[in-house]
Amino acid sequence: MKLLSVIVPCFNEEENIRDFYDELCKNTDFFREKQIELELIYVDDGSKDKTVAEVKKLHEEDARVRLVSFSRNFGKEAAIYAGLQKCRGDLAVLMDADLQDPPSLLPEMYGYIEQGYDSVATRRVTRKGEPLIRSFFARMFYRLMNTISKTEIVDGARDYRLMTRPVVDAILSMSEYNRFTKGIFGWVGFETKWLEYENVERRKGETKWSFWKLFLYSLEGIIAFSTAPLTIASVMGVLFCLVAFGIIIVTIVRKLLFGDPTSGWPSLVCIIMMVSGVQLFCLGILGQYLSKTYMEVKRRPIYLVKEEIEGQSVAE
Ligand code: UDP
Ligand code: MG
Repeated sequence: MKLLSVIVPCFNEEENIRDFYDELCKNTDFFREKQIELELIYVDDGSKDKTVAEVKKLHEEDARVRLVSFSRNFGKEAAIYAGLQKCRGDLAVLMDADLQDPPSLLPEMYGYIEQGYDSVATRRVTRKGEPLIRSFFARMFYRLMNTISKTEIVDGARDYRLMTRPVVDAILSMSEYNRFTKGIFGWVGFETKWLEYENVERRKGETKWSFWKLFLYSLEGIIAFSTAPLTIASVMGVLFCLVAFGIIIVTIVRKLLFGDPTSGWPSLVCIIMMVSGVQLFCLGILGQYLSKTYMEVKRRPIYLVKEEIEGQSVAE
């Protein structure tokens, strides 16, 4: 018998808890045939609605359902980390509660694990149903990210991923505070099979990601997996020094050869504004890295558990 841990981060997903469970149970025959036991971990990320109550209800009916409830909202990344830490499976799979990660793909994914892959990841090939501007910025982000970072980050990759125990342990060994899971998956390596599917729209409720939240998240990703911005800052500094040097020479030569009075304070103002702007920009970049380092050295816990309900993952 193999144990499969299904990890579901939930933030205000009361309407989706049961639907997800029902959808997952459609695979029951497959699991039985393959001798896979199930453990279902709902990680409640500080929901304000009845998510916890819904999970408890499910737990009453099915002892394989477990709950880890956070003391507040720590973010999906923290929920994923908690789920992976708590899971006992030989295999683990991360899935969204909103059924955007179709459980019907699981048999196919498991097939690849049987073939010897260490993990099976999914990416959506379309962004149907998403605002155009959001898709545009997402594409830009992935292109930028893959130019400046050595870690491969796949466009359209979802967190929906089936992993073997060694991969889970590898991810857990990365105990950084600023977590960017898409990068972490790429960083740990292992044989990964990519499955592609059409985007599925969220079943019920609303997305928890605003444009602003996504923007900040993308910055987090860049800073966590690339130091290119720091290099850009240095290069820009050198460039400006060279330009300044050139201008000094020209000014001196002009004065000596043609006796030109040094004129034009508007241009001077422009230069000062420009250079100080660049300086602040570079300082900002430096500050970003410093702040991340600051949070990292504080060694605060990634999440805090308020309540936990253990499950029983013995096959009926
Ligand atoms: N989620 C979470 N904590 C958060 C935000 C989201 O645990 O702070 C969960 C959410 O409940 C869902 C999954 O992460 O199961 C994906 O969120 P969502 O569907 O809102 O994101 P999208 O699919 O739009 O990228
Ligand atoms: Mg979703």
